[in-house]
Amino acid sequence: MSISYDQDNIFAKILRGELPCDKVLETDHSLAFRDIAPLAPDHVLVIPKGAYICFEHFSKEASVEEMADFVHSVGEVVRLMGIDPGSGGGGYRLISNAGMDGGQEVPHFHVHVVGGRRLGPILAATNA
Ligand code: 5GP
Repeated sequence: MSISYDQDNIFAKILRGELPCDKVLETDHSLAFRDIAPLAPDHVLVIPKGAYICFEHFSKEASVEEMADFVHSVGEVVRLMGIDPGSGGGGYRLISNAGMDGGQEVPHFHVHVVGGRRLGPILAATNA
């Protein structure tokens, strides 16, 4: 069984201009905007404009142009935020949640770019 893309998800509405966003970057194939509930001083979401649910879906069906644009956009966001350790920034973390186990809330592929503070271990220690 495959899951189909939900045209009414929040990021689809942002892409259609039905909901506002605090835009950081826009290219032909990608959009980056600040997370509405930031978990760190710098927290930006980068999304492709195409209807992809998660990383695996994007990797399977996106064009080479969309993929190149997306990867470049993530790097550009890091540069715009001034958090690239190679340029004297403090560093950052990229996160992409998928599905229930991954804790994905919005079913449109996105990468979180998070930085601006010490982020601690990669996963919170829980007894789950
Ligand atoms: P996920 O859990 O799917 O990886 O992350 C979804 C993210 O989208 C969350 O960090 C959440 O704060 C953010 N988010 C949810 N609704 C909105 C919205 O309407 N605008 C913005 N900018 N971010 C949103």
